[in-house]
Amino acid sequence: MHQSPQPWVPAGSRARIEEIARTHLGEGAPGAHEHGAPEQVTPMIEVITRIEDLIAASDALHDEEAFNLNPASNVLNPRAAALLASGSGSRTSLGYPGDKYEMGLEHIEQVEVITAELAARLFHASFAEVRVPSGAMANLYAFMATCTSGDTIIASPSTIGGHVTHHAAGAAGLYGLRTVDAPVDAAAYSYDLDALAAVARETRPSLITMGGSLNLFEHPVAKVREIAEEVGAHLLFDAAHVCGMIAGGQWANPLDEGAHLMSMSTYKSLGGPTHGLLLSSDAELSERIDRIAFPGMTANFDAGAVAALGVTLADWIACGEDYASEMRACAAALANELAGRGVRPYECAQGFTDSHQFGLLAAPFGGGTTAARTLEQAGFLTSGIGLPAPEIPGDQNGIRIGTPEIVRRGMTVSDMPRLASLIVRALEVGNEAAPRETSRREAALREIGAEVAAWRKEFTGVRFTV
Ligand SMILES: *Cc1c(COP(=O)(O)O)cnc(C)c1O
Repeated sequence: MHQSPQPWVPAGSRARIEEIARTHLGEGAPGAHEHGAPEQVTPMIEVITRIEDLIAASDALHDEEAFNLNPASNVLNPRAAALLASGSGSRTSLGYPGDKYEMGLEHIEQVEVITAELAARLFHASFAEVRVPSGAMANLYAFMATCTSGDTIIASPSTIGGHVTHHAAGAAGLYGLRTVDAPVDAAAYSYDLDALAAVARETRPSLITMGGSLNLFEHPVAKVREIAEEVGAHLLFDAAHVCGMIAGGQWANPLDEGAHLMSMSTYKSLGGPTHGLLLSSDAELSERIDRIAFPGMTANFDAGAVAALGVTLADWIACGEDYASEMRACAAALANELAGRGVRPYECAQGFTDSHQFGLLAAPFGGGTTAARTLEQAGFLTSGIGLPAPEIPGDQNGIRIGTPEIVRRGMTVSDMPRLASLIVRALEVGNEAAPRETSRREAALREIGAEVAAWRKEFTGVRFTV
């Protein structure tokens, strides 16, 4: 028996899935017979080796060859990585500390308490839910704590980085919520407060959510709380990306500014494990979330991830301010250096960025995803993103750039001119798009990639750890 190529998957992905399965698993893979593959099954011992080799190649790409400029990914403190890999994640963890359901959990329950205490301390909350496997699940728990199915919420649209979890196709829609887009002030890359107040009065939401996957300048949290208050809504700040700016004191803490809840992913600017975190100082919501997490949605949580998160949070308490201010300074410097070389960042009335990330206008490079593919060939990992700028048919209109990993690896503001010049060279080479230029273009990108990989070797450590 084998899994069939799934008809709902886009055609390009279906072909790729079939190719991967055929290459590594041989006969028995989806579509193997149709494609006339040899009647041969890869021995399982060989399959295991291949999985190990693929992960080793991925690690070499991220840890040795390329610079990661994607703010949605980061590197762990090696001590946190060791805990994540220790195998403790497959142990059980069910139940309150002091009242665990199974035996042998007296050590794990202490780690659970330490991590939750550190999270509450770092983010000025009286309650921290650490039994959340992801940022998306943290948002779902927040929706469950503040809304019932059928309610309306107001959330950021994708033009200012609004995340799918707040919309119809994501956790909000799957839980039965109706999402109304928050009106946007594109010049501020934020909310149009007067229009938001009008939409709130008209739609009577149970919840207003703020925050997104690209954050340039601080959002007016206190003012949105006033709007929420007026219509009897709760306020959730999704800090999946901007949590590092908050933890390092660069941006005001949304919980201090009036958000009832703050959710986040812990592997982006926070540099922790792939996990989630949900925080509050509202006693009633905290109790609801605690019950949603347990016994509601979590039976056993990943104790290895919670241990790695505890190390991450301790690092932040000890040296987070320096880390966050360096990320922010490098983002500003890189945006300016790129602008000075003719590659334009998306610009608001206040400038390019006041956070650890910014967007580049992708139109001169054929689109955001197209440009990100070019940059990967030169050794820079990025992604496309939607910006409040003219649309590009069939592609994103922006390229998202962030500094969490390059700064953690040891780059400083003094490295930004060289970094910018390499990025600009790669984008310019990418624009030599005539078909007969392809091989020359690829050779030129490889040449830049070799230079990038040689420079990359100078950044071996992980900074801002205790
Ligand atoms: C990444 C992201 C999420 C989802 O986080 P996961 O941890 O990947 O589930 C939620 N909200 C925003 C704004 C994000 O950028």
